[in-house]
Amino acid sequence: MVGYQKDGRFLDAIADAEPYPYWVDDVDEPDANPMCVRDERTDLCVVGGGYTGLWAAILAKERNPSRDVVLIDAHEVGSAASGRNGGFMDSSLTHGIANAQARFPDEVSLLENLGLENLNQIEAAIKRYNIDCDYERNGVIDIASTRHSANYLDELRDDYEQLEKIGHQVEWLNQDQVRLKVASPIFTGGMWRKDTAALVDPARLAWGLKDAAASLGVRIYEDTRATGLDYSGNGVVINTPLADINAGRVVLATNAFKPLLRRMHNYIAPVYDYCLVTEPLNAQQLAAVGWQQRQGLSDISNQFHYYRLTADNRILWGGYDAVYFFGGKMSTDLESRPETWAMLSQHFFETFPQLEGIRFSHAWGGAIDTCSRYSVFWGTAMQNRVAYAIGYTGLGVASSRFGAQVALDLLDGRKTEATATKFVRSKPTPFPPEPFRFIGIQATRWSLKREDRSGKRNLWLRTLDRLGLGFDS
Ligand SMILES: Cc1cc2nc3c(=O)[nH]c(=O)nc-3n(C[C@H](O)[C@H](O)[C@H](O)COP(=O)(O)OP(=O)(O)OC[C@H]3O[C@@H](n4cnc5c(N)ncnc54)[C@H](O)[C@@H]3O)c2cc1C
Repeated sequence: MVGYQKDGRFLDAIADAEPYPYWVDDVDEPDANPMCVRDERTDLCVVGGGYTGLWAAILAKERNPSRDVVLIDAHEVGSAASGRNGGFMDSSLTHGIANAQARFPDEVSLLENLGLENLNQIEAAIKRYNIDCDYERNGVIDIASTRHSANYLDELRDDYEQLEKIGHQVEWLNQDQVRLKVASPIFTGGMWRKDTAALVDPARLAWGLKDAAASLGVRIYEDTRATGLDYSGNGVVINTPLADINAGRVVLATNAFKPLLRRMHNYIAPVYDYCLVTEPLNAQQLAAVGWQQRQGLSDISNQFHYYRLTADNRILWGGYDAVYFFGGKMSTDLESRPETWAMLSQHFFETFPQLEGIRFSHAWGGAIDTCSRYSVFWGTAMQNRVAYAIGYTGLGVASSRFGAQVALDLLDGRKTEATATKFVRSKPTPFPPEPFRFIGIQATRWSLKREDRSGKRNLWLRTLDRLGLGFDS
């Protein structure tokens, strides 16, 4: 069954879209770093050059400049999720306060405050390293709309009251108020979180962090895939195709990709998420949508869109159709999915009918590392010489810095307020093996979609809730 109407207007709008991330178009990508071709010895080896790996390398050097740090990436730094996301930098470490409330009720305030502090630290680092990444701290409006019949406004109101109690800057917007901020005939209400979110050009952030790491002396190798890990009493040996790296400590920051430790595989499933970007809006089109305060927007339904303006006034429109392929398949072919792009196009014009005629210039996709608790988790292996931080489930632009910081704390044996939390010390419930993994994920997606339409949580979702696996928008 196709999830979109075969309406020429929605299809024409995507017909000429370039099938790659808008963020990497028309910009000077940094020079590639060399491959690792000789055996190396280092104090810390970071595997993976997305945000998690880059922050791990930077923080390790900031903490101890004399520590030798090597970072390797199988491709180019920032070429995976970190260079192709929506650029929403949300301070939440837990994928929203409702998820924190459900899983870590005693730690909600602490986790919210640690998340805000983490976002503030990112902002400071962007300034400190002079990273040109169109950083805008305009907050996010969580949007209720007529697209879903479930009344999520009551739940949003609960979130609002909690966030206000914690001391975050939040504003409740009724239907008229939200439509005055951003004009859409389907919006019915919203919550503007003013201080807990920012927008960024994600690729330029990754490249800026790469420069910052290099300026601190991190030795970066690209096109260098780690193929195995081996622990001898003297350290960890990371095998790569042409050379071995002997490291005192290792951070694994491989996100949705095939993990190097077998145990990590049980906890994550790669799920593909897709985005569109329009051509730049002209003055008339901009006036028709309003959006003068340039907030990020995100639906509050289970299946949600996220949307924002870019620096040159395009609209990025993504989300909704998270797709898992049997066996956890990952490939560059899966980054392209015309049927999802067509559905996104349809939803875009239902939300902004006044923009009829505008075309999408770019369309792409990428893998996110979904886990059953919907937020980063950590683990160590090989006598505490190896630590990993994965599981961001599509909300890792900001929390990846926190993920890296805690991974380093675990390696260094540093006890902090964060490392004492259940959030850091616990793991998600593992996914079952195939074919049950595939069947379970499909059943969950179907049920969540149904809940958005009917407002009813079916038996499957209620069972997951009882097992602590439930997802609540
Ligand atoms: C389309 C899309 C939109 C998104 N939008 C948002 C958003 O708006 N806001 C938000 O917060 N989050 C968003 N996310 C999620 C966010 O991008 C990720 O959570 C975040 O980038 C994770 O960073 P990372 O460093 O852990 O992983 P990645 O950026 O995936 O980096 C992992 C790196 O590890 C490397 N690697 C893997 N295996 C090996 C190996 N064996 N050897 C060497 N290197 C290896 C890979 O090449 C890759 O570069 C989105 C994701 C996608 C795909």
